[in-house]
Amino acid sequence: MSAIPFVDLKAQYEDLRPAIDAAVARVLASGWYVLGPEVEAFEQAYARRTGCAFGVGTGSGTGALQLALLAAGVRPGDEVITVSHTAVATVAAIRLTGARPVLVDVDTDRYTLAPAQLLAALTSRTKAIVPVHLYGQPADMSPIMDFARAHNLTVIEDCAQAAGASYEGKPVGSLGHLAAHSFYPTKNLGAAGDGGMVTTNDAALAARLRALRQYGWRRRYISDETGLNSRLDPIQAAILGVKLPRLDAWNQKRRALAQRYRQALTDTACVLPAQFSDSEHVFHLFVIRHPRRDALMAYLKQRRIGALIHYPVPVHLQPAYRDLGYEPGSLPVTEGLAGEILSLPLYPELPAAAVEQVAQAIRDFEASS
Ligand SMILES: *Cc1c(COP(=O)(O)O)cnc(C)c1O
Repeated sequence: MSAIPFVDLKAQYEDLRPAIDAAVARVLASGWYVLGPEVEAFEQAYARRTGCAFGVGTGSGTGALQLALLAAGVRPGDEVITVSHTAVATVAAIRLTGARPVLVDVDTDRYTLAPAQLLAALTSRTKAIVPVHLYGQPADMSPIMDFARAHNLTVIEDCAQAAGASYEGKPVGSLGHLAAHSFYPTKNLGAAGDGGMVTTNDAALAARLRALRQYGWRRRYISDETGLNSRLDPIQAAILGVKLPRLDAWNQKRRALAQRYRQALTDTACVLPAQFSDSEHVFHLFVIRHPRRDALMAYLKQRRIGALIHYPVPVHLQPAYRDLGYEPGSLPVTEGLAGEILSLPLYPELPAAAVEQVAQAIRDFEASS
């Protein structure tokens, strides 16, 4: 049996090699190496795909989150509600603005922010909510938006894992006031390095984002407020422009492979991802739960099958966030998931036979123990 890697980033490059090489060469020959027409063209194309009027390219998904929070007016002393069951970048970005992250538990099936937790987390200092569309599954946005409207809060979607997903027929990224996207190489739409974007339908927010991403400049050399340096690189923008037209077909392949996993893993002890008729999942990750997760992971590794845990330690229990004061046991759903979740290999170029091979290995593991 051949090895099955968790991801294979070179496969996508090999598929698109002539177009990507030409795009990179075009940028190098243009002499325009920061922002400019390549970035603007991709900002427009991606914003349109996301159902938004404006896209502001950033240096990373973390930069996009940070800029969205700053543009929303989040300042030291404010509170921002998000989840602990996420990539640490979501919470780091909040903290870097000086605001306090208020971490709430996730829904038991959706694995995203549980709207019922919002009321208890609300204080007079609450400024914003950051729902995360985790693993490619959109968060339950309708009750979140209702709550935000009722309490005058800004909603910033973390779309890093959900490029191309939709909720109630609308693309993620167009549901909140602002949305942060990541083009980290393993994401559903991945660059050949770091990249990100903020999308919005608010022209004033878009203008503020454009200033904040480069030193707070509205005019060259004149800062109206303190900004960062977080700009989408034109070489990455050109590569992403080649890949964007493929996004929907790739997501379709991800969904088909997820369906295969679903069939192949019935009659195992695996808890499969729940299905929701309100949204279209794009399977950035195929995450199962298993009662003997650590032993299963070790067994798969021995069979040379890549599997990873997203994420093994919830943010509220990580050293950098201890001072927020959350005790073990304070977010029971999140902590329960951390002990059981396992991400299986899934990417558009993964052969269907590999899914069967992974499923067989899981059945062998269960039979042998
Ligand atoms: C990847 C990711 C980020 C950060 O994006 P970078 O481009 O790596 O900075 C933020 N949030 C989530 C949920 C992510 O998966």
